[in-house]
Amino acid sequence: MNDYDIIVVGAGPAGAMAAMSAAEGGRRVCLIERKAKAGVPVRCGEGVGYRGLTLTLEPRPEWIRATVTRARMVSPSGIAVDIGNVDKSWVLDRERMDADLVGMAVEKGAELIASTPIVSAEKTWSNRYRAVGVDGKGAEVEFTAGCLILADGVESRLARCFGWETALRPSDIETCAFARVKSDCIEPDCCVFYTGRAAAPGGYLWIFPRGGGEANVGLGVIGSRCRAGLPRELLLSFINRQFPGSKVTGLHCGGVPVGKWARPLVRGGVMLVGDAARQVNAINGAGLAYSLYAGKAAGAVAAKSFRSDGSVNHKALLEYQRAWAKNFGKQQERSFALKEFIMSADDAFLDKIAESLSKEDARKVNYLRVFMRAFASKPALLLKAFRLFK
Ligand SMILES: Cc1cc2nc3c(=O)[nH]c(=O)nc-3n(C[C@H](O)[C@H](O)[C@H](O)COP(=O)(O)OP(=O)(O)OC[C@H]3O[C@@H](n4cnc5c(N)ncnc54)[C@H](O)[C@@H]3O)c2cc1C
Repeated sequence: MNDYDIIVVGAGPAGAMAAMSAAEGGRRVCLIERKAKAGVPVRCGEGVGYRGLTLTLEPRPEWIRATVTRARMVSPSGIAVDIGNVDKSWVLDRERMDADLVGMAVEKGAELIASTPIVSAEKTWSNRYRAVGVDGKGAEVEFTAGCLILADGVESRLARCFGWETALRPSDIETCAFARVKSDCIEPDCCVFYTGRAAAPGGYLWIFPRGGGEANVGLGVIGSRCRAGLPRELLLSFINRQFPGSKVTGLHCGGVPVGKWARPLVRGGVMLVGDAARQVNAINGAGLAYSLYAGKAAGAVAAKSFRSDGSVNHKALLEYQRAWAKNFGKQQERSFALKEFIMSADDAFLDKIAESLSKEDARKVNYLRVFMRAFASKPALLLKAFRLFK
């Protein structure tokens, strides 16, 4: 009864896009989600660049909470650098967007099966795939398909069933704490980033305005410098200092993978997408645009890889990996190398860079200039930078 062409596990942005494009390609698709409603509670700063989002989707106006036109970086000792030359970015309503993406996948013909965690998956003797879940009543339920797309997020366990090593090195995961803050002190069009050991060891703290005097405030601490409870403690102490008397809601924790993307992305008839494939920008932890792109690409490739007898041409699925590597693979490798560099920078170095940039005309400062200034101040790194960007 539960036999499909394509099973997608996880109805986050990557999974919803994969299901949508696979269904659009004419396949029988089921989209399986462990929660009753995907994307709730929101585990995201909700920031996204205009270019990254519109590459895959035409955003609905109701998804956009705020438009960001400038940014500020604050160094460990409190030197503020205004960055006036930023690409247009948005702060989204992810709860709404994620729900709409799932709705759009269903409209295209995907069958949504919610409240059903998949607990195991395997290849069958007939070269198909079986996923076993537990439904809302606690009963086991089986699904079979010719192709399996795993979009089960940062905590992905299912990839391990097919030989992927899913454990992350402590230096490749940011442990985050984040909350919604309502305060009169929030600048409506400016993203603010705090750096340094006291703010967020090996990571950064962010304030992303989301309209109506509200902001997403969060921070990530690199796993190798984290201890239990540290991100939450640092976040609450920052909010109390910076936004005294503010209303704080939705305090949660979550992880962001900041390693290299998983290789291979395809094994047999199984494809990895989104956070499960570690498709995240390692410098800033942004994964939404990548997840949308990867989901759409994987779903489209899967849909057209079926032979006329209904079997799947596994080699044809590799087109998804080639598309990812060509369009974003190099970019993500650069961000990984830059992350390694940033993590090795101490507070004194960050202060020195901020000091020199703070004297410049904010309208001319952009993110690239911040990085180039950092590289230029350590000549040995210039060569490394050249190799990265050549
Ligand atoms: C604190 C924080 C802040 C962030 N801020 C930003 C930001 O500002 N901008 C940005 O671009 N990115 C940000 N990210 C990253 C971004 O949220 C992710 O990259 C993006 O959500 C990845 O989408 P996904 O579909 O791959 O995974 P997810 O959104 O995690 O979706 C995975 C889905 O799979 C489901 N699932 C998991 N296991 C199973 C199972 N066994 N069976 C069935 N279903 C399952 C989950 O319930 C979930 O719905 C942030 C992440 C965090 C944690």
